[in-house]
Amino acid sequence: MDNQEAVAQIDHIHTLWEQLTRELTDVLDAHGVCAAVTYEIAVFTGVRTVVVLSGPPDKYFDAWICDGNGDLQQARWNDVQPALDTLRAPGGAVRQEKMALPAAEIIDSDLWVLVEDDVLFVPLPFPTGRSSNVPQGGICLLDPPDQCPLNQSNIETLATHITIFLDRAFLRQEIDRQQVEFDIVYDLTYSLTATLKKENILNQLIDPVRRILNVEAISIGLVEETTGDIIFEETLMGPLFQKLPPVRLRPGQGIAGVVAESGESLIINNVYKDERFFPKVDTQSGFRTESIICVPLQVEGRVIGILEAINKRNGNFNQTDLRLLQAIASPLAAAIENARLHGDVLAEKRRVETIFSIMPEGMLTVNAEGRVTEANEALLTLMGYQTDEPLVGNPASEVIRVRSGEELDGFMEKVREAHGENPQVASDIEHASGGSVPVLISGASIQDEEGELSEMIFVFSDLRQIRELERMRDDFFHNIVHELRTPLATILMYARLLREGKAQDDEAKADRFLGVIERESDRLQQMVRQMLQLAKMEAREIQRSSERVELNHLFDDLLPPLADRAVERGLVFSQKIQPELPPIVGSQEMIYSVLKNLVENAVKFTISGSVRVEAKRRDGMVRVLVQDEGIGIPEEAQPNLFKRFYRAQTAVERGIAGTGLGLYMVKEAVERHRGSIQVESVEGEGSTFVIELPAAEE
Ligand code: ADP
Repeated sequence: MDNQEAVAQIDHIHTLWEQLTRELTDVLDAHGVCAAVTYEIAVFTGVRTVVVLSGPPDKYFDAWICDGNGDLQQARWNDVQPALDTLRAPGGAVRQEKMALPAAEIIDSDLWVLVEDDVLFVPLPFPTGRSSNVPQGGICLLDPPDQCPLNQSNIETLATHITIFLDRAFLRQEIDRQQVEFDIVYDLTYSLTATLKKENILNQLIDPVRRILNVEAISIGLVEETTGDIIFEETLMGPLFQKLPPVRLRPGQGIAGVVAESGESLIINNVYKDERFFPKVDTQSGFRTESIICVPLQVEGRVIGILEAINKRNGNFNQTDLRLLQAIASPLAAAIENARLHGDVLAEKRRVETIFSIMPEGMLTVNAEGRVTEANEALLTLMGYQTDEPLVGNPASEVIRVRSGEELDGFMEKVREAHGENPQVASDIEHASGGSVPVLISGASIQDEEGELSEMIFVFSDLRQIRELERMRDDFFHNIVHELRTPLATILMYARLLREGKAQDDEAKADRFLGVIERESDRLQQMVRQMLQLAKMEAREIQRSSERVELNHLFDDLLPPLADRAVERGLVFSQKIQPELPPIVGSQEMIYSVLKNLVENAVKFTISGSVRVEAKRRDGMVRVLVQDEGIGIPEEAQPNLFKRFYRAQTAVERGIAGTGLGLYMVKEAVERHRGSIQVESVEGEGSTFVIELPAAEE
């Protein structure tokens, strides 16, 4: 080539450069650049031209093929790397003859099958050090003629020129991608903060993340507080996991366990080559994990779980994927934590509401202004309301009317000022019916974070039962005093008569006086004994005793002395006790005195005739019958028989000693043994007492 020819050729190539520069000014995607370059070179040189450009690493190459007449096609080549390797020369551009190729399989490769004799190849020299993978590629002129305007010496400059446009396109692509990622993270963050339900959070997250990372699956594992184990969210695990137990990893187990324990993210592109991977989950599910990127979910430096993306569809996970997943992890962790806290708050609220509603005491909450915010069922009942309408929203001191003592207003003031103490006041509150109910009101104040009063709680304990018990106790003492006074006065009177010598010379009289003293003393003694027994029973000692009471033994001890006494008094005594009565459970002492009282009464209140005692098993019960032909009980006295200190007029008139405590105690004791007592009596004919006690189960 002479000088003139060379200058002409340079001018000529200039045309190509100008043409390409013009073409590529507005082309901002790499595929567009490659297509334009292939076309322009092929048309300019009249030589079939191929531009190859790597897709994702280790996956495939895109190829643009254009004939000299401008016929352009695009192809995707899967296994062109070895063919390209044969063309890579240290100097850059290379001319390779097909004949000189090392192996037959290369000749059959996607590129070489298009070639007849040789290829002029120049790699595209991309600058290294970019954030994503540096693409590979090159320009191939297939079978170029000797006088081809592009040759080994000038094609490298062309390649550099083109690389600038390609690189610009890649950068633009990356910016676009980052913009999309940013938008997605922004959208996700926004939508995550808008919901407090964990399921919603996870559902909102999965699809966008899977799409943008182009992965097969996303999974989330949360750290179980008690064990530290990671439990994977079942809803995200897909159909393969549906019939399996939840996936659970111990701290440090598997990639998720390692990430949760260390708090450091991991990218693993071939999990089966990594010993940290825990393959059992794959074995169970049939899912095949290839690559994993796993980031910790952290809240205030504490790992609450992990977020995993599994099996990237094109190529390996890289730092860009990691950054993206980390960007999502922070708002996700915060959202999950919020949902958990919200759940805890709701659970706590339900707990408090339940306590509030099942409390037997009346409860009232009042806000800082003194208005009722809530009243429980028990308080409504206490006040005689059907609904809380009359109370809620109104000033507490107006709707809770306190009868005696200080007004509720004053008490509320006390509660307001009592720091840490819970003041109490006993009072009467008005009932809707117009009456009043005695209550003990306890109050407590609740402060907010600033120490300002935010709420007050009042508990109303119904004092009616206590008051009733107090009244009964008072009556009881009153009765005792009365009952003790009578025999004591009698004893005192007869003792004085004796001392004053009123029966000095009359032995029979003295004997009668002493008889009265003795009888009244007996009565006093018995009364004291019975009262002690009663006190014991009322102290609920019986509730605590659960002995097996063998009734046959009891009757053996009890009946002979009583039978003797009956016979002494000229009565006919008969007994019919079934052998091997079932035992009953309870207090032996109590049952003994029940039976003794009944039989003693029968003997005591029978002047002549017979007394009969029977005991037998019937329908899981033991039935004891005590029958006499005594004085009987007048009908009008029968309802009062079992009351404390009650004695029928007939007994008092006949001067039959007694305290009126026996039957009261019998009934109490029988009922405490879950039994029953019945009486049938006709005045002047006799009485029949029947008790039934449940037999102990075998
Ligand atoms: P007490 O026998 O000490 O008077 P109780 O409580 O045992 O007291 O009995 C109360 C009253 O019931 C007796 O005072 C008596 O009037 C009447 N009563 C009890 N048992 C009989 C009976 N078997 N026959 C007639 N009256 C009876």
